[in-house]
Amino acid sequence: MSGNKPASKVWIAKCGSYSLEYLRQAVDNILSPILEKADLKEKHILLKPNMLSARTPEKAVTTNPVFVEAVIAFFQDRGSHVAVGDSPAGALHGVERVWDQTGIAEVCRKRGVELVNFEASGWTECRVGDRSYQLARCIFDFDRIVNLAKAKTHVLTILTGCVKNTFGCVPGFMKSRLHLENPSPGAMSKALVDIFTIVKPWVNLLDAIIAMEGQGPSSGNPKHLGFIAASHDGVALDAVFAKAVGIDPLVVPTTSEAYKRGLGEADLAKIRIEGTSIQAIRPASFAIPSNWKFRLVPRFMSRFVSRFFWVRPQINANCTLCGRCEEICPAGAILRTHERMTVQDENCLSCLCCHEICPSDAIDLRRGWLARLIG
Ligand code: SF4
Ligand code: SF4
Repeated sequence: MSGNKPASKVWIAKCGSYSLEYLRQAVDNILSPILEKADLKEKHILLKPNMLSARTPEKAVTTNPVFVEAVIAFFQDRGSHVAVGDSPAGALHGVERVWDQTGIAEVCRKRGVELVNFEASGWTECRVGDRSYQLARCIFDFDRIVNLAKAKTHVLTILTGCVKNTFGCVPGFMKSRLHLENPSPGAMSKALVDIFTIVKPWVNLLDAIIAMEGQGPSSGNPKHLGFIAASHDGVALDAVFAKAVGIDPLVVPTTSEAYKRGLGEADLAKIRIEGTSIQAIRPASFAIPSNWKFRLVPRFMSRFVSRFFWVRPQINANCTLCGRCEEICPAGAILRTHERMTVQDENCLSCLCCHEICPSDAIDLRRGWLARLIG
């Protein structure tokens, strides 16, 4: 970022559990200093959690509903009109099921908050340079967008936090199209950063009380990190998350791309941490997706070894032949043959859209032998 800009600040609060009383206090501690001068009365605020798929909160796939409720309460207490929205995988088959399973519907009912259906609102064409994107039209009806990201690993982008969370503003199948057009992590990260620049979240919050490690974003393991954080600068917040779990922020392609474009700070020396220190939230260990470990290999060998580091879906016996994976697959890599669904490895982009959408836990993730060996 330019040397003339004020330092980015990230507020961190330790939080041991999803107790509403505790979380309301913690959210107040990190949001009040950021928004102390903001006039929130009568403002229309859209909260954008991560509602990736229809999983219950303890799976750590989605932003926890109690965290969402604490943020709703913060804005309602200050006179704002709050709504909540996201476009999950499988939204076209009924977004209501995702709202219910994630627990977000219940907290919205309790707080009298509207859940916005991004699919039903239509879309608006937006351009970044010579690239165009379709985003849910309704997001532009709000005064402010508040990003409520979930701290997770991601097999495509190593971590997913604030920058990647705005991808959910792209409705339904348009997300699959972007995966097809941008098959590599670098190309996809450029598209994700483009979308982040369009959505322009006003404030970013990260739910890292129970994060996800391993094969995220939907097949990893819950990991207790015990903190929440907030910043106007979503790039800086992602950089702090990366540093806390032992990853160089610039290895995360969405963070490095956004930093290169001057959209936020990723140099830890230039980020001011308020509240709790990074050292105090650092876990003893944190597992990254196994396919990313080939980054540790010298560049001249990476082309060769990457053949053995893949992560691909495999359909198991739970499959009910509902066809949703086949429908969403951007590469046409899932075929129905003799009443069986199979993945054609040679066409698979490893985007994991199929894994996110499957309602029956019928898709396992297979790893190449070197990825399994390294763990
Ligand atoms: S793998 Fe899952 S999404 Fe695909 S057809 Fe089977 S049950 Fe449906
Ligand atoms: S099979 Fe699954 S992971 Fe592979 S391209 Fe299709 S949706 Fe993506």
